[in-house]
Amino acid sequence: MLANYGYKDGSGDYFITIDTGKCDGCGDCISACPNGVLEIVENEFDPLEGGQIAAVSEEHRKKIKYSCAPCKPTSGREKLPCISACEPNAITHSW
Ligand code: SF4
Ligand code: SF4
Repeated sequence: MLANYGYKDGSGDYFITIDTGKCDGCGDCISACPNGVLEIVENEFDPLEGGQIAAVSEEHRKKIKYSCAPCKPTSGREKLPCISACEPNAITHSW
C-alpha cells in the first residue's frame, strides 16, 4: 500500500509517499538523506508481509517543506537523494 506522510498548506502539497509493497527496508534512503527525515520502522501496513520499511520520522511529518528544502532541485530535473538511492523505486514526493 501507499503510506503518505505530510500535509497541504497555502503554498502547495508536501507529501512523501512510501510504497510499502516495494520497500524492502534496505536503509539506503536513510543514509542518503542529509536531514534525518527518514527512518526504518516495523511494517504495520502489510501485516502479512511484515519486516521493516522506511517511513518519515514523526519529528519531520509536519515540516517536510522545510526539512526537505535543502534538496530542492535547482534544474528541475535532478532527482532527490532519497529517490536516487532507492533501487526498488519505493519513494515518491509530491513536489
Ligand atoms: S528530499 Fe532530501 S531531506 Fe527530504 S527525505 Fe529526501 S533526501 Fe531527505
Ligand atoms: S531505499 Fe527504498 S527500499 Fe530501501 S528502505 Fe528506503 S524506501 Fe525502502
